[in-house]
Amino acid sequence: MSSIELNHIVKKYGDGFPAINDVSLDIKDGEFVILVGPSGCGKSTLLRMIVGLEDITSGDMLINGKRVNDLAPRDRNLAMVFQNYALYPHLTVFENIAFPLRLQKGKHTNEEISAKVHEASEMLELDEHLDRKPANLSGGQRQRVAMGRAIVREADAFLFDEPLSNLDAKLRGQMRTEIARMQRRLGITTVYVTHDQIEAMTLGDKVAVLKKGVLQQVASPRELYEQP
Ligand code: ADP
Ligand code: ADP
Repeated sequence: MSSIELNHIVKKYGDGFPAINDVSLDIKDGEFVILVGPSGCGKSTLLRMIVGLEDITSGDMLINGKRVNDLAPRDRNLAMVFQNYALYPHLTVFENIAFPLRLQKGKHTNEEISAKVHEASEMLELDEHLDRKPANLSGGQRQRVAMGRAIVREADAFLFDEPLSNLDAKLRGQMRTEIARMQRRLGITTVYVTHDQIEAMTLGDKVAVLKKGVLQQVASPRELYEQP
């Protein structure tokens, strides 16, 4: 069970206008939520508060029902899934996925690491590519390696911050399909930030629309589409 609950979250940088203003949002176990809105509306700020990289000015954040306002990122067990550039080019797919486990020195035997990496790579359909280096993978495969890292350390949720914004249209379309397919297959709670309307309307179960730090609306893509 992995839920994320935001209750009346406010973020002020200095004494300016709040970047996030009284945002409340329930993200249920396994749900794929898209956070959408124009540049500067506070999407990154909200995501960074969820992962714990930014302090919350006021309000409560609960993960699995537990208040996490003061917990460091490592104690929240959420995973930012970064684009290609976060993979280690000199390491194989296997070692890239194993990396978080190797960091937890002495916690896992080599056999355990191997078992976890193989399990994750099967779920992600990467088991035939374990000996490759990132340079020899497609964009979608690289994205899955990044997800694999989050899976081996049993992260409660994936957080994506505009993962496709620097790609060309063709690759963006391919990756969009890939991310949606994998999220459904894995059933991992996901928060996905974008300013792209197509991503917002096609990827998630639920779209949260943010404007100037205020949550305007939370609805399914279908409800948004059918709106007058
Ligand atoms: P988005 O991700 O939607 O583009 P951001 O969360 O980056 O929006 O920014 C929301 C608002 O907060 C903007 O007005 C931005 O200028 C401001 N902001 C973001 N980060 C900082 C910061 N570190 N210090 C001061 N203001 C910030
Ligand atoms: P530790 O404090 O144990 O070294 P990190 O702070 O490196 O751990 O990472 C903790 C969590 O925060 C991880 O889920 C990681 O993906 C995320 N994280 C770390 N740095 C960033 C960053 N610059 N932007 C977004 N997420 C990050």
